[in-house]
Amino acid sequence: DRSDYSEEQVSGATVIAQALKIQDVKYMFGVVGIPVTEIAIAAQQLGIRYVGMRNEQAACYAASAVGYLTGRPGVCLVVSGPGLVHALGGMANANMNCWPLVVIGGSSERSQETMGAFQEFPQVEACRLYSKFSAQPSSIEAIPSIIEKAVRSSIYGRPGACYVDIPAEFVNLEANVNSIKYVECCLPPPVSMAEMSAVFTAASLIRNAKQPLLIIGKGAAYAQAEEEIRKLVERCKLPFLPTPMGKGVVPDSHPNCVAAARSKALQFADVIVLFGARLNWILHFGLPPRYRPDVKFIQVDICAEELGNNVKPAVTLLGDIKAVIRQLLEQFIKAPWQYPPESNWWKTLREKMKSNKASSQELASKKSLPMNYYTVFYHVQEQLPRDCIVVSEGANTMDIGRTVLQNYLPRHRLDAGTFGTMGVGLGFAIAAAMVAKDRNPGQRVICVEGDSAFGFSGMEVETICRYNLPIILLVVNNNGIYQGVDRDSWKEMLKFGDATTMVPPMCLLPNAHYEQVMTAFGGKGYLVQTPEELQESLKQSLMETAKPSLINIIIEPQGARKSQDFHWLTRSNM
Ligand code: ADP
Ligand code: MG
Repeated sequence: DRSDYSEEQVSGATVIAQALKIQDVKYMFGVVGIPVTEIAIAAQQLGIRYVGMRNEQAACYAASAVGYLTGRPGVCLVVSGPGLVHALGGMANANMNCWPLVVIGGSSERSQETMGAFQEFPQVEACRLYSKFSAQPSSIEAIPSIIEKAVRSSIYGRPGACYVDIPAEFVNLEANVNSIKYVECCLPPPVSMAEMSAVFTAASLIRNAKQPLLIIGKGAAYAQAEEEIRKLVERCKLPFLPTPMGKGVVPDSHPNCVAAARSKALQFADVIVLFGARLNWILHFGLPPRYRPDVKFIQVDICAEELGNNVKPAVTLLGDIKAVIRQLLEQFIKAPWQYPPESNWWKTLREKMKSNKASSQELASKKSLPMNYYTVFYHVQEQLPRDCIVVSEGANTMDIGRTVLQNYLPRHRLDAGTFGTMGVGLGFAIAAAMVAKDRNPGQRVICVEGDSAFGFSGMEVETICRYNLPIILLVVNNNGIYQGVDRDSWKEMLKFGDATTMVPPMCLLPNAHYEQVMTAFGGKGYLVQTPEELQESLKQSLMETAKPSLINIIIEPQGARKSQDFHWLTRSNM
């Protein structure tokens, strides 16, 4: 074959980009510099979208959100040393969330290893704690197979983060095109089903439950099991509770959704089916007093090691959620059954939902200024387009916002997640907007941020404006972390010393003009203090399709959640 003697050369950068393209990677987020700039250029030339961000951490959050939203990993491209170290936060967050992600890091020249090379750092080792797979190809020729393995590992089994290290000298090194053998795109993840006897046991436990509950986690959202779950809910008439990111798999407005009676539902259910939700802090470990001591858990998960964590489940269904629900549905089709809609359990849940909704409604209708969280979210909810993607973070902002802001579609809510990471919001919003651009142009992304959360990645507003992304940022501003103080109290405190000694550590600058961060880059900024101003600015932002906007919403600095039956995260209540 004459082509074997071709003189045509190809650079390492092009080999990396081509290998990613073959593995169906569509989005790359990063910060370029030595030695990875050429990789971003090569990726763009092959039609991979490259989004240049302002910090690697936000870039990594963005790439991981693409993985969750699409089921194929996004790539985060970073420079050596500090660039890679900044990305570790994003890798950790992705891995904790079980989201696929591929990070590609440039690294210092191998010939200078241990000599104090520019940005030298043990990168492959550093990434091991934050990933499922971390490796450096031994030559340019080895790049395609390592990239295939990273992409495949990120989506097979329990999804997670993978790292590929590229020594600086590979990027511009030229190799003969014929020496490079590309590896075909990996197959979609193999689908596994649960053992039949376990399916029988599970179906019979559900049939005999007095107070059943389905919990829908973000694993079910990731698995794209919405159709199957909805069929199960409706065929068997079962109450369901979404976890924060499980919201929307079945619409929040569905009559069987008992989110407004969350604590009650968890506390008194006798049989709970977990669809892709771990019994970690988010679900209070599955333990009393938040649950009955005799509650029977049916755990559905793709990861065998997860089964049995914190509680001994009554039965485990190891497999892909979609496939396992089909197995369960078969049982209920063969021998039809439905949970009686007139049961006491439904009555208890409905009463609790009614009283909970009434008490938040009461808070929302308060006319006093500054506004409280509930007032803000009720007004926002009224105008939210049904198909918008809601990104949310911040302590109270996220917790209260979750109860008021509705999701009607799966994978339309992104938040601080399993790791409780603050600073994810803008990266997630940018990723969601990129995916929407290709799939559903015109779709809006609403990013609801606390003022503290916004600060972690605030400069990504420039990224949003540079790409003109259809994102509306709401900064719910209480002048601090959890709580702040008003301007007068701040001044008062400074009479006795300076801010480092006198001002509580939770406080941020009162009445900061975050909206000017947006106007600085040509977007629209609004400062609002009343419900009317909020309504009007949101209306304008939604009409304005050509520009991103930021609405800085001043709320009461000392406002908090309404009282809870169980104090959030207190150990004595575990
Ligand atoms: P949440 O925060 O919503 O409670 P978690 O992140 O704790 O959700 O749990 C998600 C679970 O879903 C993980 O244990 C993960 O292994 C599992 N999972 C992910 N994809 C699938 C799938 N296709 N089938 C079954 N389980 C899955
Ligand atoms: Mg705040």
